[in-house]
Amino acid sequence: MTEEKLAWINDEVAALKEQGLYITIRTIDSPPTAWMVVDGKRVLNLCTNNYLGLATHPRLVEAAKAALDRFGAGPTAVRSIAGTLSLHVELEKKVAAFKGVEDALYVQSGFNANQAAIPSLVGREDVIFSDRLNHASIIDGCRLSRAKIVVYEHCDPEDAERKIREHLPNYRRGLLVTDGVFSMDGDIAPLDRLYEVAQKYGVMTMVDDAHGEGVLGRGGRGIVDHFGLHGKFDVEIGTFSKAFGVVGGVIAGKKVIVDWLRQRARPFLFSNAVTAADTAACLAAVEILDESTELVDRLWENTRYFKGEMRKLGFDTGQSVTPITPVMLGEAKLAKEFSRRLFDEGVFAMSIGYPTVPRGEARIRVMVSAMLSKDDLDYGLEAFAKVGKALGVI
Ligand SMILES: *Cc1c(COP(=O)(O)O)cnc(C)c1O
Repeated sequence: MTEEKLAWINDEVAALKEQGLYITIRTIDSPPTAWMVVDGKRVLNLCTNNYLGLATHPRLVEAAKAALDRFGAGPTAVRSIAGTLSLHVELEKKVAAFKGVEDALYVQSGFNANQAAIPSLVGREDVIFSDRLNHASIIDGCRLSRAKIVVYEHCDPEDAERKIREHLPNYRRGLLVTDGVFSMDGDIAPLDRLYEVAQKYGVMTMVDDAHGEGVLGRGGRGIVDHFGLHGKFDVEIGTFSKAFGVVGGVIAGKKVIVDWLRQRARPFLFSNAVTAADTAACLAAVEILDESTELVDRLWENTRYFKGEMRKLGFDTGQSVTPITPVMLGEAKLAKEFSRRLFDEGVFAMSIGYPTVPRGEARIRVMVSAMLSKDDLDYGLEAFAKVGKALGVI
């Protein structure tokens, strides 16, 4: 029996189930390779963010093991007291050079990177201009800052300009923040035009490149490289948990800002440093991308093939121009059923509904990766065709 004071939770959960929005959490019993063991079943992985297969790359695994032996399991201190390892410093230098920025700060996650950066740059007297579809970690970082949040229409520099003109004069300073690649739609922000607008009004600029690193730009150098905007964006947020295959977040950009964050960023000051093993694996990942574009090239080959075939089958893959491939289905219940049937066919691709995406825009999100062979991709396409026909989607 649930205690009276907690009965509201049962009501909320029942409502989620009724709307097909209750999240069923699957358990993984294998590495995130092309084929995974999920809830005891061997299935094709169209689900993880392991874009380049680096999570199981022998160089990352070896580097992590060596660091574990050398530094032990955990640093047992925050970065600003006794937790900054030589590995952290080396990683920060290496990632800054890779991205072509002056400096970088490594924190526990991409989520934390937004909590670290945004409240350090703006406060109560300031204003943030934020894309309507920005990631939850940006939204939370904005809220945490207590600055006024003004939302501009998705990927719309004209609307951003209108809102800057209207609101900026009432505040001390402004920050424009956008996802680089939008994680649920796979479209990309018009970074060049957003930069022009922000620059015109002296507004600081920040882009979250979580799904752009290892994917966009030369050899996966990210969205700023894709647009050739080096040295222009003030702050780039990144993550090591996606294409880089490990864990951790990064705030990269102008030295003056990164130095300031070392004094002010709360996840840096008040939460333990990332382990040596994870940090060493991140270092190896950056080195691999620095040496060769092979994995990134394969990722794009697979992406072109998979998306082209999905469109031929008649699926709506939305506005995506990246390996993130949304298969638009509309109702959350349909998306859930689609995902369940794919799983029966041996394909792991999760449905995504509200609040991760707007109501009525539920979808299956396919993550194409360099790990997949042509046979794997064809296996996935066949399953989509079969389930799509059975459910009347195509
Ligand atoms: C995934 C993601 C994050 C969170 O990164 P983690 O390292 O997993 O915490 C932040 N921002 C965006 C845009 C993301 O897609």
